[in-house]
Amino acid sequence: MALIVQKYGGTSVANVDRIKNVAARVKAHWQQGNKMVVVVSARSGVTNELIARAKALHSTPEEREMDMLLAIGEQETIALLSMALHAIGVPACSRTGAQAGIHTDTLHTRARIARVTGGDIPARLDEGKVVIVAGFQGISAQHEITTLGRGGSDLTAIAVAAAIRADLCQIYTDVDGVYTADPRIVVNARKLPVIAYDEMLELASSCSKVMQARSVEFAQKYNVPFEVRSSFNDKPGTLVKANAKTMEDAVVSGVALDRSQMRVTVSDIPDDAAAVAAIFNALGEAGLSVDMIIKNLGTQGRSNLTLSVSSDQFSYAEKVINTVIGKLGSGAVRATGEFAKLSIVGVGMISHPGVAGTLFNALASIGVNCDLITTSEIKIAVAVAPAKADEAVRAVHEAFRLHDIVPIG
Ligand code: ASP
Ligand code: MG
Repeated sequence: MALIVQKYGGTSVANVDRIKNVAARVKAHWQQGNKMVVVVSARSGVTNELIARAKALHSTPEEREMDMLLAIGEQETIALLSMALHAIGVPACSRTGAQAGIHTDTLHTRARIARVTGGDIPARLDEGKVVIVAGFQGISAQHEITTLGRGGSDLTAIAVAAAIRADLCQIYTDVDGVYTADPRIVVNARKLPVIAYDEMLELASSCSKVMQARSVEFAQKYNVPFEVRSSFNDKPGTLVKANAKTMEDAVVSGVALDRSQMRVTVSDIPDDAAAVAAIFNALGEAGLSVDMIIKNLGTQGRSNLTLSVSSDQFSYAEKVINTVIGKLGSGAVRATGEFAKLSIVGVGMISHPGVAGTLFNALASIGVNCDLITTSEIKIAVAVAPAKADEAVRAVHEAFRLHDIVPIG
């Protein structure tokens, strides 16, 4: 008998039949004598639909009203899932984020969790009930409904699992785990049985958007191991946990690709650290993350910066940088081409030399050149031409023999 938190995403509860399917899965676990807490998202598309309706009425809706609106998506699914469980003879009750004791700050639409009490969840579990919790929502100290940012139901599940000290936290989604590469690009990509939080974070931030990154950070901070698995089959998924020594066999765990990156050149700025700082401070304050950066010396004591932002954020970044340029008194900013970011990720890279050599040999063998490069302890990312991106992923996957390395979990 275990205390299990399960989270089902929007596609898993998209319609009545899928809600019935989730209810049946929950019942099976409950019948084995497990205590079950189930966190659900809104039906897929509902949150987007609500946002569209708000925007049709006001171009910049008040964020407090947005939260009031967006929270209803999850409230629909908790009630429906509870009813579906009642219909098959399982005692269940639904709880809003506030009722589950998800206390947040007041940053509407992107609130941060301050503390989680769990509310009366333990008492209801002791009565043998399944407790269904609305994901994505919380309550501020002012008793206002808040939401946790897009994809925030994952965070609810991890936070509740931490608060009630669950034995197991399972994130059910429409993919069945984390792969060594996107299986649509690499046919022999392999599902990873286990990966470290840090690897999951790097893979998630470089495109394999299986889960909200904040949730993984939260899980790491509170050491909540969790499993990512599919709600459409019974295959084991990928276990995400603290770095385990037994993973050291695999130097590189995966290759990720993020296609829509924009190269941005800021030219003719003063050649001093203060100018560069002003630009990055402004980008940071605007919530824009930049990960690849090159600074070159220009002529006459001026310098040029090349950096990357995701393509859909380019115009915003341009506006922010132009404001800084205005204050610096010189400079120009322009987009200088789209590229794809290829990253290799692995905790094993820390202790294995020669990883970069293998990566660049693989790229050279197919004639791929790359100028922007960034590294961390467990990641090397390079900019490649969009037209060559898929071929590059396949070459790198092959070079590191990711199809046949089996990390021991
Ligand atoms: N319904 C919210 C969203 O679409 C939260 C979630 O699905 O995790 O972002
Ligand atoms: Mg999601």
